[in-house]
Amino acid sequence: MTTPEPGEVLIEATAIQQRISELGAAISADYVELERPLFLVGVLRGSMVFLADLCRHISVDVEVDFMSISSYGAGVDSGGAVRILKDLDEEIATRHVLIVEDIVDTGLTIGCLLDRLQSRRPASLRVCTLLDKPARRRRQVALAYSGFAIEDQFVVGYGMDFAQRFRNLPHVAVLRDGG
Ligand code: IMP
Repeated sequence: MTTPEPGEVLIEATAIQQRISELGAAISADYVELERPLFLVGVLRGSMVFLADLCRHISVDVEVDFMSISSYGAGVDSGGAVRILKDLDEEIATRHVLIVEDIVDTGLTIGCLLDRLQSRRPASLRVCTLLDKPARRRRQVALAYSGFAIEDQFVVGYGMDFAQRFRNLPHVAVLRDGG
């Protein structure tokens, strides 16, 4: 059996940085009127690199908090229910909240997270994802900000892992079987 390794570079580091500067500008324009800082929620662990770069391209005041979640089992019929491993440290009621995700695939995870956070009555709740895999969507979710739409392939790098590896790559690569 071979060990999967990063293969073809799908999105170069420079292209990622260029797109993030555009996302940051759009977010900054959309939230310029806020009285309190925009509340960024990073979903651990995959979004850490994206969030770190994105927040430096947002010119409005922000606060940053993190959640860590895991899906219930691997079954596709879990309905995307998620278990919260680490909750937010702050209350989000009446706050303008932007969830920062690495990748939206079936949409079940982010859909469940949206349900959970919506019940806390934020003033607004939106999603910013670096990558979007629309081909595998099982739950439709509004993605207010999306970096790149990609085809149905497993990718690693720029925060995204396979078995906890390859998060440190500066680009996004397609995972392939090692030889
Ligand atoms: P969803 O519930 O199917 O949308 O799954 C979203 C989560 O699955 C992401 O936050 C990632 O943690 C993981 N994931 C989905 N596709 C990939 C991929 O291609 N590479 C790495 N992680 C992925």
